[in-house]
Amino acid sequence: MKKLLLVLIVCVFALTTFASYVDILFVNDTHGHAWTFDSNIGGFNILSTVVSAARMMDDNVLFLHAGDLNTGVPESDLNDAAPDILSFNMMKLDAMTLGNHEFDNPESVLETQMELAYFPFISANIYKDGKPAFQEYIIKEFGDLKVAIFGLTAEETQILEKLYAGEYEWKNAVDVAKKLVPELKEKADIVIALTHLGSIKPVIGTSSVMLAEEVEGIDVIVDGHSHTLMEEPMKVNDTLIVSAGEWAKYLGMLQLETTEEGINVLSYELFPIRSDLTNGDYDVEVILDYFEKLGGEKLDQVLANSKIYLDGERADVRSKDTNLGFLIADALKKICEADIALTNSGGIRASINAGDITYKDILTVLPFGNTAYTIEVPGSVVKDMLDFTATVADGKGARPQVSGITYTINRATQKAENILINGEPLDMNKTYKLGTNNYIASGGDGYSMLEGLPGYDTGFVLAQVVVNYIKDLEDYSPYTDINNRITVIE
Ligand code: ATP
Ligand code: ZN
Repeated sequence: MKKLLLVLIVCVFALTTFASYVDILFVNDTHGHAWTFDSNIGGFNILSTVVSAARMMDDNVLFLHAGDLNTGVPESDLNDAAPDILSFNMMKLDAMTLGNHEFDNPESVLETQMELAYFPFISANIYKDGKPAFQEYIIKEFGDLKVAIFGLTAEETQILEKLYAGEYEWKNAVDVAKKLVPELKEKADIVIALTHLGSIKPVIGTSSVMLAEEVEGIDVIVDGHSHTLMEEPMKVNDTLIVSAGEWAKYLGMLQLETTEEGINVLSYELFPIRSDLTNGDYDVEVILDYFEKLGGEKLDQVLANSKIYLDGERADVRSKDTNLGFLIADALKKICEADIALTNSGGIRASINAGDITYKDILTVLPFGNTAYTIEVPGSVVKDMLDFTATVADGKGARPQVSGITYTINRATQKAENILINGEPLDMNKTYKLGTNNYIASGGDGYSMLEGLPGYDTGFVLAQVVVNYIKDLEDYSPYTDINNRITVIE
């Protein structure tokens, strides 16, 4: 079975002897998934074997990452993605574009990550002090063939990553590309945009499809952000868009040749990264084992015990009230000694099973390292905040989970109605103490009405706050018998 790998790669890269060509290998949105998961899926040791096999076949290999290396797996998150970066160093990654999640941590972490990496973090549309904040592009030469690769990062990072993206300014990706692409055309035969834009229309800014529609001269867009697995390259005008899904479940492989007439696709493959198809690269395995063991003991520590299943499934928590949503909001209300609490469902990333809760479990549920934040909110702004939630579509991370509040979302008017604060009608002239997380407090997820209000960061880490709350919990009834705090009428 494992021989199949080499045979497949030989087939993929069979036609490469004479023409001017390049093999573009790509991943995106790996989100800490350096280790094989679901028994045989992914793993950077396996990825490394496949990349090496491709390099063995010929020299003209380019290996790219379309962003979002950070956040998603505790063993990686606890080590600021060092295992991931060291593995990509071993794989001789040529460049990575900055994804929005590269701004999940303080700037100092990003700086350390860039120092650790043997590959550049590129993006042409992120500015600081009026200048590009990162390297904008690289040029690789394969014999006579020159390939330019420039980076672009979703403008909505400004909204999604309110906490640590504030230092930077995002320029419109289309404007930046319109200026840069002609310059790169002068310098290279093939122009690749390595983008973390996504192929789905964003709230603000540019998708990869819009980029291809509006900017001439980009030969290939290697995209991330929407976690889209492109079974075939998408053709928009003369531009090809490719994307390899998420978590390095697949390695994308696009082989291009340049001829007098233009650029041709020789082959396109999504190569499955699976531990039952090939052996892992030993050197990468050593790195991954080290970091797994380093964090292992701490992560397996039992911190609390839940008597019931607490539902944090993405589809549930982002569309309705759930018991885990209630519990987290209640925990925030308690720690902040607040009248009311609100947290974003997008910050709740998994469920908690009945039984022991380990450090790893809680970090999987709450991976962002959020802290509890207290804000003084005038009644009128509470109304604005709840009106805003009435505009949030199901499935969005901004869908709130609340405590101390009951209200009705009227979809027709897109307003909040029947607002009761701890059973009393909302008083527009009163100031309420709101407990939330630091992400929402800074105006994240569209909660801009809270930005700048008087308040302070309690410094209590949300994951620990929630664990302590569960530890002390005696009465589970608020979480077994859920009454709607938010009612939705169409
Ligand atoms: P990408 O598409 O870039 O990979 P993602 O996978 O995180 O990002 P979603 O799964 O849709 O995209 O999650 C986005 C949601 O995650 C936001 O709407 C927000 O609710 C939540 N979120 C993002 N960053 C933070 C943060 N630092 N703190 C708390 N919640 C966050
Ligand atoms: Zn992502």
